[in-house]
Amino acid sequence: MAFLEFDGIVQSFGQVKAVDNVSLSVKQGEVFSLLGPSGCGKTTLLRICAGFQRPQAGRVILNGEDITDLPPDKRKVNTVFQNYALFPNLNVYDNIAFGLRIARRPEGEIRRSVDRMLDLIDLTEHAKKRVNEISGGQKQRVAIARALVNQPKVLLLDEPLAALDLKLRQRMLVELDNIHDEVGITFLYVTHDQGEAMSISDTIAVMNQGRVEQVGNPVEIYEAPRSSFVAAFIGDTNFFDGTVREVSGDYSLVDIDGFGRVSVYNDKKVRIGGLVHLSLRPEKLLIHSNRPAEREHYNIFKGIVEEAVYLGSQTKYWVRVGDYRVAVMRQHRRFLLDEKPIIWNDEVWLEWSGDDGYMLERYSEADEALLSLPDPDPEPDEDDGDNVAAPAEPEQPLPAEPGGGA
Ligand code: ATP
Repeated sequence: MAFLEFDGIVQSFGQVKAVDNVSLSVKQGEVFSLLGPSGCGKTTLLRICAGFQRPQAGRVILNGEDITDLPPDKRKVNTVFQNYALFPNLNVYDNIAFGLRIARRPEGEIRRSVDRMLDLIDLTEHAKKRVNEISGGQKQRVAIARALVNQPKVLLLDEPLAALDLKLRQRMLVELDNIHDEVGITFLYVTHDQGEAMSISDTIAVMNQGRVEQVGNPVEIYEAPRSSFVAAFIGDTNFFDGTVREVSGDYSLVDIDGFGRVSVYNDKKVRIGGLVHLSLRPEKLLIHSNRPAEREHYNIFKGIVEEAVYLGSQTKYWVRVGDYRVAVMRQHRRFLLDEKPIIWNDEVWLEWSGDDGYMLERYSEADEALLSLPDPDPEPDEDDGDNVAAPAEPEQPLPAEPGGGA
């Protein structure tokens, strides 16, 4: 049963539909992430939940109560902003105590609550420091404590880690997860960082241009993307276009122009002659130096390695097969000891199961723009462009940083 519900939320700014008829259900106690590129409407939805923005249509229901028209301070939700929004002239303790003092809580209760928070965020020893005397990660923890001390029903987090460097972000993510486990409050978490969303969320709503493209747990979102946008935005993928030639039971044989005939599990209803758009994650492909044995519903293709990037635990390859450059990720176990390294210009065999290609709707140019191609060929082929299986970098910089919340 939903604890927090967005029902048909609409919010436009001039011609821009920032939130376009969004309905979502958030369970009590879960970490629910709104994930999407810059400008997809996630902050607007968060601000509507916080009460900073009144939606043009739709309702926000919290624990059975319609809070759409309540002012922010009457909602029992608190927000943690990317830029911390702490009071620089107050020390750590007083920053955390601020909300309780405004609510005129008795001093004894304030002390107990703030002490508990200081303990939770492990900053008891820094309680008397002014906030400009502590680090970025510590400031973020104070911001979280300041919000949590009010015992909100929902904690809203707007890109809370975006201002921190990578190492600190990873550490804070673990801390945030621990804090969530400890307090058990519902978190609504806004981020454009898929890794962050995947690691902390129970449920993710992937947003694109004001709409929700998919809601699911991290595994569902990654393994079974419902649209090409989701497949391209979450992780790395190869796209192929094909036409169904044969259907037999749960599998189809699909002809991919400039590539060949592949066996694909039928994720959707298919008919002979129908167009199919496939997403195939790079780690689903095996790369071999010798032709592997035939297996039922497996695909085997010969190719030439055009790029190989050794990443330590893995190597990423781009393999030319016909008109396509296929991204492949190979996990290493004993690279120097017993794996014969596959290198640039090697002839290789790609193999993958028909179960691992995912059938999607036709993808758009905008989806392709989310993918980043490796460097162009030294001698580019004239008709290379259209049929390139375009891999997305796992660590690609996503569109511009958000503006820091309310
Ligand atoms: P970001 O990660 O960059 O913050 P976002 O996904 O959170 O992006 P929103 O901030 O919700 O996106 O913005 C959605 C769209 O609405 C954008 O096109 C943005 O320019 C527009 N928008 C948001 N707030 C306003 C406003 N107050 N006035 C005009 N346009 C706005």
